[in-house]
Amino acid sequence: MLMTHSETQTRQLLASRPLLDAARCSASAVAALNFYNAETLLAHVRAATALRASIILQTTESTIDYLGIRLVVAMARAAAEEIEAPVALHLDHGGSYELAERCIEAGYTSVMFDGSRLSFSENCAQTRRVVELAHANGVSVEGELGHVAHNDEVSANDIARFYTRPEDASRFVEETGVDALAVAVGTAHGFYKGDVRLDFERLAHIREAVGETPLVLHGGSAVPQELLFRAIAHGITKINFGTELKNAFTLAVKASLSSSDDIDLRRTFAPAIAAVQEISLAKIRICSQRQ
Ligand SMILES: [Zn+2]
Repeated sequence: MLMTHSETQTRQLLASRPLLDAARCSASAVAALNFYNAETLLAHVRAATALRASIILQTTESTIDYLGIRLVVAMARAAAEEIEAPVALHLDHGGSYELAERCIEAGYTSVMFDGSRLSFSENCAQTRRVVELAHANGVSVEGELGHVAHNDEVSANDIARFYTRPEDASRFVEETGVDALAVAVGTAHGFYKGDVRLDFERLAHIREAVGETPLVLHGGSAVPQELLFRAIAHGITKINFGTELKNAFTLAVKASLSSSDDIDLRRTFAPAIAAVQEISLAKIRICSQRQ
């Protein structure tokens, strides 16, 4: 018998909080994979399908500008129908209330409000506003406290001045009601110049301070697997991956274009999809502790 549209539609995008709570209860994490185009999304869908794993699909505002918000949401909804495990669509590093509102209206099921460059009280107030709107619409919210810098911005020595303080984390979670908190404990965005050092003691204190609120590690790309395992053991329940995915895609497209004059885009992009899929698989395995 044919599977009708309504049957496949039962797998809808979910808010991220239940995915994160389930991961926390099983001492694992959810891989949050950025996508940028149909090819990177396809890679994530194939990886999650192969492992029957929950994932968080996420985009930044730049991808929304690139694809258009309706297309992003439609693509993610179709992806959720394909994957036999819960999937959420998350706005990564949302910079304003207005953007969060636009995403919620369009069908995102999770949004980040990144007020990490604001003062503590301003970050609290603005995050709180986004939480009120999001929760009224069944959408989860991630906040950020401390600041996960870009590798170009900071040297390994002064990265620590941006670290999240446990006592602030506890107040922030209480005052805002966020569903997840991105913490600065040693990771950075972009490529690492030296060894990654994570402050596990701080992470353990933050974990204690925020109770059951899931913690998020940004800048997961190229962080050694052992450190990611330790981060999960210390209470991280969402790990963001972007840089490594973009890099693998770009390198594979370059190789494909320089080795052939083929204009069949399906063949041009196939190795790039496979390259990203391999990384997605590895990251999902790490997060779900299925090594
Ligand atoms: Zn980030």
